[in-house]
Amino acid sequence: MTTKAYGAHAADQPLVPLDIERRAPGPRDVQIEIAYCGICHSDLHTVRSEWSGTRYPCVPGHEIVGEVSAVGREVGGFRVGDIVGVGCMVDSCRHCAACADGLEQYCTNGFVGTYNGRTQDPPGHTLGGYSQRIVVDERFVLRINHPKEQLAAVAPLLCAGITTWSPLRHWKVGPGSKVGIVGIGGLGHMGIKLARAMGAHVVAFTTSEHKRQDALALGASEVVVSRDAQAMARHAGSFDFILDTVAASHVLDAFTVLLKRDGTLCLVGVPEDPHPSPNVGALIFGRRSIAGSLIGGIRETQEMLDFCAGHGIVSDIELIPAQAINQAYERMLRSDVKYRFVIDGATFAA
Ligand code: NAP
Ligand code: ZN
Ligand code: ZN
Repeated sequence: MTTKAYGAHAADQPLVPLDIERRAPGPRDVQIEIAYCGICHSDLHTVRSEWSGTRYPCVPGHEIVGEVSAVGREVGGFRVGDIVGVGCMVDSCRHCAACADGLEQYCTNGFVGTYNGRTQDPPGHTLGGYSQRIVVDERFVLRINHPKEQLAAVAPLLCAGITTWSPLRHWKVGPGSKVGIVGIGGLGHMGIKLARAMGAHVVAFTTSEHKRQDALALGASEVVVSRDAQAMARHAGSFDFILDTVAASHVLDAFTVLLKRDGTLCLVGVPEDPHPSPNVGALIFGRRSIAGSLIGGIRETQEMLDFCAGHGIVSDIELIPAQAINQAYERMLRSDVKYRFVIDGATFAA
């Protein structure tokens, strides 16, 4: 079905309106009319081919919520009218050890991304949520239980939410943990909310002094401006876990020295250029770790959505029309967003 979308034809081109084709729903497919789609920094990295390998036209978007408009005859879990979500993946091999463990993001045969992934559908790569509708196998569709009025603010949970939830759970953050969240953007602001809801003592690290009050309101108990060496030094050796969401290359040693013995600095930001090589002394003296984490599996994404619905957690968003996507990208690069842009799906056809 012809579908209005926004995408780019090349790395150095702005996003423009496009007509794309969505497949007719197969037996196990769910067709979704997209109500809202969040703007993740990964969308910008991909559109501009900062990670290389972008296929064009590129239609990004992997924080999708909407309403089911058709289902294939074998679909058991969803009906027309259901409110659903789609995150960063639309398929995986379904039989490797990672898939068997419900960790499709680590599929050893490679998961299919919601955009820029391989598919039989035209044009040969997947096209994401900056579009009126999407067709997805029901295994990769999530159930949304938040009130309908909150739907726009639920969209970012599908990437920013799960990408912070998964490592916080994996490293067993809870009451008694001292947790740092580095970078108060789309991911970071969700990291603060979720770590707080899990019962941790949360310290927000920011390069932006003006985010101090917001970070406290989001749930941080303390805020440290990471450029202030003295303020950083006061926290030396005190953290169980630090989650680093920064989208640019920076010196990691500033954070590893803040970890306790056996503490972990987990990286989720994927900058275009590598971080400077870390000081191994800071790791060896204290048996500290630097780790990474990728989004989250479908089962844990549903758990996160249900937890957020139960605790009244959504994102802090600025709703924009599709026509403002390019300006939103520039503002995101200046850290000028509180704290996630979300596109109103009704405007793709405007
Ligand atoms: P975002 O909204 O742009 O937030 C990034 C934050 O990093 C900024 O708000 C800023 O926070 C800080 N920052 C930016 N530039 C900086 C610099 N030069 N030096 C220090 N701090 C800087 O981006 P996002 O959507 O949260 O995504 C963050 C990163 O995670 C991106 O690289 C994205 O691709 C990646 N990501 C990874 C996964 C995964 O599965 N691992 C999933 C989604 C996204 P302050 O103003 O507070 O300093
Ligand atoms: Zn994302
Ligand atoms: Zn697999």
